Amino acid sequence: MARYKDYDYGQMKMIPVSFERQILPGSFEYSLAWLVDHELDLAELDARYCNDDGGRPAYDPRVLLKIVLLAYSKGVTSSRRIERLCRENIVFMALGADLQPDHSTIADFISRSPETIGGLFTQIVMTCDQLGLIGKEMFAIDGCKLPSNASKQWSGTHEELDKKRRKIDRAVRRMLQRHREEDTAATEPDIHAREQAQIKKLRAASRKIKTFLDTEPERRGVSGAVVKGNLTDNESAKMKTSHGVIQGYTGVAAVDDRHQVVVYAEAFGQGQEHGLIQPMLEGIRSTYASAPANSRKTLKRAKLTADAGYHNRETLEYLERERVDAYIADTGFRARDPRFKDHKAAPERNKRQDQHRFTQEDFHIDLNQQTCRCPAGKAMWLKAQRARIGHHLFMQFQAYEHDCANCRLRVRCLRDEHQSTPRQVNVMLDITPARKDGVIERMKRKIDSARGRHIYSQRLGTVEPVFGHLTDAIGIRRFSLRTKRKVDGQWKWMMMLHNILKIHRYGWQWA
Ligand code: SF4
Repeated sequence: MARYKDYDYGQMKMIPVSFERQILPGSFEYSLAWLVDHELDLAELDARYCNDDGGRPAYDPRVLLKIVLLAYSKGVTSSRRIERLCRENIVFMALGADLQPDHSTIADFISRSPETIGGLFTQIVMTCDQLGLIGKEMFAIDGCKLPSNASKQWSGTHEELDKKRRKIDRAVRRMLQRHREEDTAATEPDIHAREQAQIKKLRAASRKIKTFLDTEPERRGVSGAVVKGNLTDNESAKMKTSHGVIQGYTGVAAVDDRHQVVVYAEAFGQGQEHGLIQPMLEGIRSTYASAPANSRKTLKRAKLTADAGYHNRETLEYLERERVDAYIADTGFRARDPRFKDHKAAPERNKRQDQHRFTQEDFHIDLNQQTCRCPAGKAMWLKAQRARIGHHLFMQFQAYEHDCANCRLRVRCLRDEHQSTPRQVNVMLDITPARKDGVIERMKRKIDSARGRHIYSQRLGTVEPVFGHLTDAIGIRRFSLRTKRKVDGQWKWMMMLHNILKIHRYGWQWA
């Protein structure tokens, strides 16, 4: 017969816990507690509490700050999970002095005052600077697109949303009609109740869309074109990422190259990044506005790098006006770089299938008269005098559909002989001397130089590890808040955590 050790679930045991001894020197929580207690000025946070004469005592913001940053360092951003950690995890209990704040207190602390977090973020950057973690020789700017607390199913232009609302209304009418017809027949009561609940849900959705359309103006993007709005968070944007389409924000960071310290961070509700250099540069300057004069002077000499997403004429002109030593790649940068000549292989392979196709030389083009005749002798119409594709201007001609439809040369002229669209020819217009000396050409010459390539090559290793560390090592892959103001605050929480981790790893040896 089997024999087991005696056990008793009803027994009691006293386990003495010293909270102080849970925060061991050398651990991240020790660095965090030290920073919050000895380095940060939390007067701005203290000013939010006006309960000295009456009311219940509040949680000390120092305790909440430590708890939230420790939770973020473990990839936990949900206030309910943070509450649970404060009840169950001994390190959280120790760092939070066993106060165990509930989730609403934590959520309120994270989202209530994003501006205050901006101030704390600046203080951490200044601490990094004092510890010698910021070189101020080169800053790399880039963005990371993360989903936020909004559903992409509820996004669309006003026209699309109105169409969706009419579709829902039609579905409700159909269901009601069917009910009326089946009124006489005996229906199962639970089926009836389920359909009633569905009608109620659809009507609520229709009302929600109508209220949105009545109250929110059509949203416009950076170029002024109409873009999709969103019912749950109209400041977020629907954007393409390498992991599919998301509804969210682009968190942009300016990162110093010495130890990848983030000197400025801001979240934007748009997918396009061109146009973001200006607010980021102003943000870096505002971070250093209260810094000593020699620190601001060094900042002026710093170089700035960004990838092709940030490249456009307005940005380059702005950077020249501001006398910033910038290195912004354009989309053709890699193709011009002899070190990446192998990267051209793929497009050339694609071109091979077009080698028997009529080229531009087979068309009779007169740019002065703005006319074009195709190899079959048919006149083509002028589609655009100056169409911008990438950074070049083209004159575009297109054949008439009926000409191509009956043409015996289709096989040699069209990419696919079965295609229904007619042939189009894009003729690149000459780059004028004025354009050659323009800001785009100047940037090309600068970034194509040996020095330009060397400086730009440091961009990738400076800024990309910051996002990789956040999303893969820490495990934060989404924003949990809504509206640009709150999401911006949360992005600063994340980037502040990144900088504190840098202080923890490299800062103390410099101190
Ligand atoms: S396919 Fe169209 S464009 Fe090409 S040769 Fe025939 S008519 Fe002209």
